[in-house]
Amino acid sequence: MQKPLVCFQLNLLWKADDFDDIISFVFFTILIIATVKMGGNMVRPDEVKVKAQRLGEQNYKFRAFLKNRADRDELDAKFLKLHNEMFAVFDCCKCTNCCKAFSIILDNGEIKKIAASLGMIENDFITEYLANADLDDEKPYKIKEMPCSFLLSDGRCRIQDCKPDVCAEFPFTNQPDRLLRLYSIIGHAEICPVVFEMLERLKGMYGFRNWVRK
Ligand code: SF4
Ligand code: SF4
Repeated sequence: MQKPLVCFQLNLLWKADDFDDIISFVFFTILIIATVKMGGNMVRPDEVKVKAQRLGEQNYKFRAFLKNRADRDELDAKFLKLHNEMFAVFDCCKCTNCCKAFSIILDNGEIKKIAASLGMIENDFITEYLANADLDDEKPYKIKEMPCSFLLSDGRCRIQDCKPDVCAEFPFTNQPDRLLRLYSIIGHAEICPVVFEMLERLKGMYGFRNWVRK
């Protein structure tokens, strides 16, 4: 827990003179501990790339470790739990790294939906916002600007209600078969502070650090 918060809590306890004050003290203590535990001391979005790259070799060793030891379903369950717990308290608007790092490819259905939500004719929307993705006919275009043109200055998404599936699903850590996707998860740890933290917690859960020390 950070020093100013400890001072604040001690002050609250010192001034407590009735039952309500004690309840407030207990409530704020639990809240602060939960916040810190769930993400208050997480790596900063602007530092995550450098820190993940520093851990690159260790992360690839951890991948090999999991490949040899982890049960597929159990690993999925651990990822899912961490994903739900951490994204429930992490404010993506304060990060937005993924909106700056990827060129988002859209399918035809998404193009129609987004154009309609912006009140634009499809062709005008394509001309203004998209570029050729050089892929198949199902996914012909990508958002041409990086950072994404729909990223607002306060970190929100301008097309939140119809944003592309890939945006809604990133970083995919709540999906099955994570054991088969560890390479991309390690790559995503360079972009996403939550993924970075998940890997660090999983190293603890699986006893990886003790195993490395042997
Ligand atoms: S569409 Fe929205 S969520 Fe997706 S990259 Fe752009 S700003 Fe981010
Ligand atoms: S999903 Fe990850 S990278 Fe994207 S905004 Fe949220 S924390 Fe940042």
